[in-house]
Amino acid sequence: MDTIERIIALSDAFGPSGFEDDVAAIVKEELSGYDLVMDHMTNIRCEKEKDSDKPRVMVDAHMDETGAIIQAIKPNGTMHFIPLGGWSASSFPSSPFLIRTKDGKKVPAVVAQKPVHFMKKEERNSSLDTADMVMDCGSTSKEETEALGIGIGSPAAPDVKCRYDEERGLFYGKAFDDRIGVSAAIDVLLDLKDEELPCNLCGSFSVQEEVGERGVRANAAALKPDVMIAFEGCPADDTFSEEYMIQAGLRRGTMLRHYDVSMITNWRFQKLALETAAEEGIKVQESVRSGGGTNAAAVNVAEGIPAIVISVPVRYIHSSNCWCTLEDYECAIRLAEAICRKLDWETVNRL
Ligand SMILES: [Zn+2]
Repeated sequence: MDTIERIIALSDAFGPSGFEDDVAAIVKEELSGYDLVMDHMTNIRCEKEKDSDKPRVMVDAHMDETGAIIQAIKPNGTMHFIPLGGWSASSFPSSPFLIRTKDGKKVPAVVAQKPVHFMKKEERNSSLDTADMVMDCGSTSKEETEALGIGIGSPAAPDVKCRYDEERGLFYGKAFDDRIGVSAAIDVLLDLKDEELPCNLCGSFSVQEEVGERGVRANAAALKPDVMIAFEGCPADDTFSEEYMIQAGLRRGTMLRHYDVSMITNWRFQKLALETAAEEGIKVQESVRSGGGTNAAAVNVAEGIPAIVISVPVRYIHSSNCWCTLEDYECAIRLAEAICRKLDWETVNRL
């Protein structure tokens, strides 16, 4: 697939945390030229060179998306659910979802809350809670829902089709956190496959990031990286912030994060990344975040591995309807590739 087709396919793929199989299938197809290992969590990893003593640079992206898991089926056929990952409860109501059945089919459902017509006055202004919402697949009894193959533990993800506006270089869709990063990691591995590099490039496609950076720990333990680059789809802040506070706006380039609550980025590595961007004329944005958290943090604290996060700004991540641009994506790839061309032992030892 070309890059745009791949981003669309990855965005469309069903893959809430713990159920990343469809995403993994695309990664395997795209990187069939690599010797890939998939573990029992569905993490995928690879290395460019076998028996190399060059520094090991782990390029990571997480395959999972925020979704939901069915907790119980009510007698009327609707379902209680638990969110997977960091949703705002207000992003759920009226969203179309797909529920994966026991035999792998996808059944459409909507997230419903008590219709406005039946709300008491005080309910209309009360804050939302997912415990008061249901998934509704249009059935009228528990038996009918179960007959579809849905049960306790069935996973669900937003049902949104990705669209690309070629004139504007603009993607609309779901799950760009972190499928845009998955595509970026694939592009980097493909672009650099036959290039002589001072480092050994290692690919990491990890699961269950949205529920606490779980899969990446297994990939890091197996790959034993010396350096890590995490690709992320990060929350764009250009629609509800003052201009001076915008640190991840669409069409302003890739974003390098100095700080979030999970990691203070190794400043020497961050400096190398910023200098590389300046040398190459790549548009970058810098940020200091009051929240957040990425796979880079898990690897960074495990063995003190220098890590940076190269992000593509995405509007409205952790909801069903998102925007991101091809130009920011291309900045992210170009920057990661330029950094990989520099990471020899002497440079890595200075980080
Ligand atoms: Zn993410």
